[in-house]
Amino acid sequence: MPDLPSVLITGASSGIGAVYADRFARRGHDLVLVARDAQRMETLASTLRAETGVSIDVVKADLTDASDLDAVSRRLREDDRIGVLINNAGASLGGGFAKQSGADVQNLIALNISAVAGLANAIAPRLARAGTGAIVNIGSVVGLAPEFGLTLYGATKAFVLYLSQGLALELGPKGVYVQAVLPAGTRTEIWGRSGADLDTLPPLMEAADLVDAALVGFDRREPVTIPPLHDAAQWDAFQGARQAMLPGFGTTVPAKRYRDPA
Ligand code: NAP
Repeated sequence: MPDLPSVLITGASSGIGAVYADRFARRGHDLVLVARDAQRMETLASTLRAETGVSIDVVKADLTDASDLDAVSRRLREDDRIGVLINNAGASLGGGFAKQSGADVQNLIALNISAVAGLANAIAPRLARAGTGAIVNIGSVVGLAPEFGLTLYGATKAFVLYLSQGLALELGPKGVYVQAVLPAGTRTEIWGRSGADLDTLPPLMEAADLVDAALVGFDRREPVTIPPLHDAAQWDAFQGARQAMLPGFGTTVPAKRYRDPA
């Protein structure tokens, strides 16, 4: 793998992914941009090629389509110039779970879960063999907050956090860095695409600020980066509370409150 690896970014046609493309190009990395809208990616790519001189491939792919996902996975398996995967493509789904159609549920799971896991699975063995590289998965604070009323979207993002933490434990010792990035409300097209009322949006972070903060975490090799969380001690306490339960999961006797119900 070359000193400065190529970076494959999914969902690079807009929002957070497009900012990642800009930032990695300015750091001198060659890019592979993946999304459905090839025209938008070509426009971004020609600007970045002219301004930075890096090489950029544009790959049109619908990551909910099995053969498109296979093609991107093959590229990740076989192209050993690619040393960083930014698993960013994702969508949200408004409305309550009981009102969401079966097709919409399957589609969101295909994009936010299956594609994320499949692409990480495609690149992980090669990076582990090389003993270097990075996988960045874009989750969401919604994955920590069922209270926010986005049940299916939040569940997919809880998956992304868990996958990232598990992969960090598995791949970290092999030299592969895995980062989960958890944005909160960020000004991108995701809101309009998921049918949100644009007049009633909460205050939003700018995508550029989100990505620049996420890259500070990336450079520090943080396993979980939550740009909107000002009190980092709260995350540490949350992790501590979770880890404090782990020894108890090894007991073979049900807890007293279930053996002796009042
Ligand atoms: P966005 O502007 O809507 O970007 C989503 C990207 O994903 C676009 O490039 C889109 O490109 C691509 N995409 C959507 N469906 C796709 C498909 N089937 N196949 C391939 N690419 C697809 O929204 P964003 O906010 O930047 O979203 C990026 C990530 O941030 C997502 O994972 C999202 O869940 C996460 N996030 C966002 C927020 C927020 O408030 N914005 C908060 C937390 C987490 P095409 O349409 O060209 O395919």
